[in-house]
Amino acid sequence: MNKLDALWEYQQAELALEKIEARIKTTPSRQKLNKLHAFLSEQQTLITGFQKQIDARSASVDKLAAQIAEFEHQYELELSEFNSMENDEECTAAEMTESRRALERLLNQVDAVRRELYDTLAWIEKATADYKETYAKAGKAKKEYDAVRKQCEDEIVAAQPELDAAKLAAQKRRAEVDPALLKKYDSVKTHHAVPMARVENNQCGGCNMSLPIATVKRVVAGTGLVECENCGRILYA
Ligand SMILES: [Zn+2]
Repeated sequence: MNKLDALWEYQQAELALEKIEARIKTTPSRQKLNKLHAFLSEQQTLITGFQKQIDARSASVDKLAAQIAEFEHQYELELSEFNSMENDEECTAAEMTESRRALERLLNQVDAVRRELYDTLAWIEKATADYKETYAKAGKAKKEYDAVRKQCEDEIVAAQPELDAAKLAAQKRRAEVDPALLKKYDSVKTHHAVPMARVENNQCGGCNMSLPIATVKRVVAGTGLVECENCGRILYA
């Protein structure tokens, strides 16, 4: 076995290992787990948003109720003043009109704040219902997530012997490769998932570029490292 054969064997072992790793990462359970994870973070964001908004609106309820009480108090004062004016002969019609207008204004203010209070309470009720629904949905999804996660863990445990064997095989192959070649291989690997390419029909099997005859001859001779001029992969006959 020449140096390039050893490197080729290592590449085969490494690809076999990567295939197992990719399979573990993309099982139906794993894909489902990823989806559930995304859904759960989405629900968590919603729940936090609901909590913040409900807290803020709840804080305004007391303020609105206090405002209503204050306006009602002012109304009572104005009303008793108006009643005493009616019995006061020195009181002018203009003063009476002014007092009546003040009473109307206060009533309108009470109405406006009351409406705001009712709207706020209705909003809180609706948001609380939405919050509960979201919370229940998230709870259900969390249970499902835990079950699927267990499945994924079981899958990993089941695949572990195969994975360990593939790792060991790749390590063994790697140890058999010339260090200089290995350095080159690792550097090409940063650009290409499969760093070595077979020469087929005078073309690079990696990028399909036609190779000069002289290059093909050097590869076939197997005397040293030949790279594809186009993609930089290590050529193998
Ligand atoms: Zn190429």
